[in-house]
Amino acid sequence: MTVPNLTERYLSVRNSIPSHVVLVAVSKFHPVEAIQQVYDAGQRIFGENRVQEMMEKQPLLPKDIEWHLIGTLQSNKVKYIAPFVSLIHSVDSVKLLAEIDKQAKKNNRVIDCLLEVYIAKEDSKHGFNLQEADTFLSTYTPMSNTHIAGLMGMATNTSETEQVRNEFRSLASLYKKHQQTLGFKYLSMGMSNDYKIAIEEGSNMVRIGSSIFKA
Ligand SMILES: *Cc1c(COP(=O)(O)O)cnc(C)c1O
Repeated sequence: MTVPNLTERYLSVRNSIPSHVVLVAVSKFHPVEAIQQVYDAGQRIFGENRVQEMMEKQPLLPKDIEWHLIGTLQSNKVKYIAPFVSLIHSVDSVKLLAEIDKQAKKNNRVIDCLLEVYIAKEDSKHGFNLQEADTFLSTYTPMSNTHIAGLMGMATNTSETEQVRNEFRSLASLYKKHQQTLGFKYLSMGMSNDYKIAIEEGSNMVRIGSSIFKA
């Protein structure tokens, strides 16, 4: 299979991101050959949005890749990724968190998770709303095998940059409120179209797909 040369695209994205911001290369829909190229150019963290696809690719690629699950996760599929996933960005319910804890325990692991918070003005988005997330985090007792390492959110897909900025700002504010008490490390916000705004608003983890992989 031939894939376009992605090294330069990857490096130009990489170089546009400050060093304190973690880059998750979102490789969904792209073949392992493309992922290998970006790996060879230095990237080690890859994000997939489907369990099945991540499970198929993981055994074919270098073992030191950190796999992040960024898409909706059904409770009954947690068991497939629990042995190797390094960060789950998309925890959208308490029930899911409990299942991750259970499967992590079976694998003798502690799995880092982010709560997905709904900040966009779009119906199809998953997650807690800001108020629900705040209430949950305020009363949260840490579990033995999961660690809530921060928050993830997606802004509305719009060219109105002030709206995007305000949505990111609302999530950053919730993040700051709980950062110290809960030991948060990651505020995952920003994709190809809006990561620069997200970083200005405090993101320290961006999830970038099309800017790197799309020819
Ligand atoms: C696909 C996806 C991304 C990357 O989007 P691009 O616009 O391709 O950069 C980021 N986050 C989530 C949750 C995604 O599903």
